[in-house]
Amino acid sequence: MSKEKNDLSQRFLFEKTDIRGQIVSLEKSFQQVLLQQNLPRVLLPILGEFIAAVSLLSETLKFEGTLTLQVRGDGQVPLVVAEATNEGNVRGILKIHHDLLSGDGMPADDLFDASHLKSLVGQGVLTLTIDPAKGERYQGIVPLDGNTLADCLSHYFQQSEQLPTKLWLFADEHHAAGLMLQSLPPQLIKDEEQRQELWSTAVQLAATVRQEELFELEHDTLLYRLFHELQCRIFPARDIQFKCSCTRARSENAIASLGREEAFTLLKEEGKIAIDCQFCGKHYAFKSADLQRLFGDEGKLH
Ligand SMILES: [Zn+2]
Repeated sequence: MSKEKNDLSQRFLFEKTDIRGQIVSLEKSFQQVLLQQNLPRVLLPILGEFIAAVSLLSETLKFEGTLTLQVRGDGQVPLVVAEATNEGNVRGILKIHHDLLSGDGMPADDLFDASHLKSLVGQGVLTLTIDPAKGERYQGIVPLDGNTLADCLSHYFQQSEQLPTKLWLFADEHHAAGLMLQSLPPQLIKDEEQRQELWSTAVQLAATVRQEELFELEHDTLLYRLFHELQCRIFPARDIQFKCSCTRARSENAIASLGREEAFTLLKEEGKIAIDCQFCGKHYAFKSADLQRLFGDEGKLH
């Protein structure tokens, strides 16, 4: 029952069934995500749940790529983004509506009702995007029809033609953690009634998990406690770490997409174009010579 199991993701399955699962517990990587964001305490668990969710879901990526969960809305929290790569690199941002940031200091905790995702986000859209390094991008729209992110995602997987998948997400100011179960296509058990029965047993057992168990227990201790009657087999753990994928080249692309005229106007106004990565705080600056090079030099292109 000791700790020291932070920032690990671990796959498991139940012997002689077509159900697999994933468990993740994060501390350091989540703290590093938070270091870049200046947020009221009450909102930290919201970002934590997003980070835990992408960490779990990215385990289903069977190729090099990135999985992104993003919600955009018109409410107090107009944007939350979390990303995880197949290598276990996570990053995320949460934005507060600028009207709430007009005073000095941080908006007060009691301005926000963090128990309902939708009351924070307002009218909005939750998207799940899978971006393979090679090949086509997949995007799914997840209806905001649950109180929590886990509810929204579980409904989504239930209703889409994806594999039935259920998530449990927990986060506080320090930890982010989660549990996921997924029902695979029939292989070992073909009888539909028996499959259903096993799935509902597994879901009921998983639903008994408590936040402090996920934050405090070793994965194998917890999985045994939850699922011992289902013969749980646990695979080796994988590290999850905070790592940003921003590059100077991507910032250049952003400037290029402004177009030559607008980029040079901006440069004239500011003296340089500065782009700060919102995920990791890295600072990229572009001066006149950089822009000339970027736009193919002396401006004789057109
Ligand atoms: Zn970055």
